[in-house]
Amino acid sequence: MSNPDLACVIGPTRRLLIGRFATAIGLAGVLGQGLTPRPAAAASAKLQPTDIGYQAKPRGGLRCEQCVNWQAPSSCKVVAGVIDPNGWCGLFRVRT
Ligand code: SF4
Repeated sequence: MSNPDLACVIGPTRRLLIGRFATAIGLAGVLGQGLTPRPAAAASAKLQPTDIGYQAKPRGGLRCEQCVNWQAPSSCKVVAGVIDPNGWCGLFRVRT
């Protein structure tokens, strides 16, 4: 897949150097993707309990185990950390 016109202009040594340079650039890109932290992926996608008013007790009879976001035995789809089944937060939505 070489270009014969380009081969006439640049010699084998230059082609070799250009090829190695291109390989190095590509390799650096691949390695860089693996080593560079991606903020969106590195950070937790869940909210912190303090940010949404989580409390480890029911509110008005509403509690986490009744919520659509509840995940037994002690977690939540949208709130980070250990979540009490009898807790509650501002994102409560009753499971139907
Ligand atoms: S009330 Fe809040 S913490 Fe509890 S399950 Fe629902 S969203 Fe999660």
